[in-house]
Amino acid sequence: MPCVAACRPWEASCLPAEVAGHDRRTDKVREIITLQCPVCKNRNYSTTKNKKTTTGRLEFSKFCNTCRKHTDHKETK
Ligand SMILES: [Zn+2]
Repeated sequence: MPCVAACRPWEASCLPAEVAGHDRRTDKVREIITLQCPVCKNRNYSTTKNKKTTTGRLEFSKFCNTCRKHTDHKETK
């Protein structure tokens, strides 16, 4: 249901999704990415990145439950 003019903004259920769930200042530049284990190819983690400040692929050392060790998880689409 779209928010109408008579809407009371303090009622969360009344707010449009973009107001209730997201920070509108960063919404347009942050995109959700998935982090994939290079060994077993499992997609174990997801995060967001700012496309304007982060160029290139992200890489994090994360624990992989399948490999039972830390591996260099890389950004994947
Ligand atoms: Zn793994």
